[in-house]
Amino acid sequence: MSAEDLPESYQERLERLQELSEFTEKCKKQLNDIFESLGWSQDYKGKEPMEQCPYDPNHRVPVRTMEKHKASCRLQKMGYSAEEQAEMYDPSVCYENSNIRSFTMDKSTQHQVILQARSAAPLMKMEGVFWQGQYSGQPVDVPQNHKRALCDLTVADRLALYDYVVGVFNQQKESAAASDDLYVDLVSKLQKDEKQNEPKSHLELMAEMRDYKRRRQSYRAKNVHITKKSYTEVIREVINVHSAELAKQWKEEEDEKDSSRSDRSSHSRWPDRRRSRSSESRHNRRHRSRERSRDREGKKKKKKKRWRRLKGG
Ligand SMILES: [Zn+2]
Repeated sequence: MSAEDLPESYQERLERLQELSEFTEKCKKQLNDIFESLGWSQDYKGKEPMEQCPYDPNHRVPVRTMEKHKASCRLQKMGYSAEEQAEMYDPSVCYENSNIRSFTMDKSTQHQVILQARSAAPLMKMEGVFWQGQYSGQPVDVPQNHKRALCDLTVADRLALYDYVVGVFNQQKESAAASDDLYVDLVSKLQKDEKQNEPKSHLELMAEMRDYKRRRQSYRAKNVHITKKSYTEVIREVINVHSAELAKQWKEEEDEKDSSRSDRSSHSRWPDRRRSRSSESRHNRRHRSRERSRDREGKKKKKKKRWRRLKGG
């Protein structure tokens, strides 16, 4: 490098710097325009909390979409392509409100089932049965599609898993049948107990069961609103019950009055009798009260007499 070159290169550097800063300014302006037209803010730092993906420490994922990412990342790690993932559906919704029983296999159950079947199998090759070499020795991920079920599990594995699942369902069926018997027995017993009464309807039985559950300590303990009422709440309830009873009574009296008023025009038999009975009772009451007052007066007179006698004597 010569001495004359130096200022020139310095000049060049300055120019380059100028160029670069102009370029960055231009980029910044473009970005600003884009953000502005989209209505976005560039101030994104710290707004969206991020988390590390449990399957790949290099993945930083927003907490908001973590569950979705985890599901797909897990499948990705298990070797399922995006196309295969797109074909997968969660079938659990189909079994929610149906009688069809379903079984969800997990990796450890699958491994246990295969190990068990393997240990029960003969050590050496035998005609007609699977021998130990035909089972997978290492735990295998639960296959998520048919292709993987064929590739990852051996024929012997699949038969063992099939037998296991069928066995689980048969067990469930048996226990369900047993509880059905229990229910039937309970009903017949109840009917035997109250043979003089009419047999109870299904609704009544359900109500009884519900009441029984309510009486149980655990139910009462869980439902604090039943057991722990404040004094005000108790009093409010008492007042409500009494008010309702009074309202009912008044309404009945009103109805009675109305019906007796309308009876005067119509000559039906029953309300007439009711009215006469009520007037009779009113009469009786008056009569009785008159008697009572007479009685009281008599007592007073006696008292006076006694008083006079004492004075005189
Ligand atoms: Zn991930």
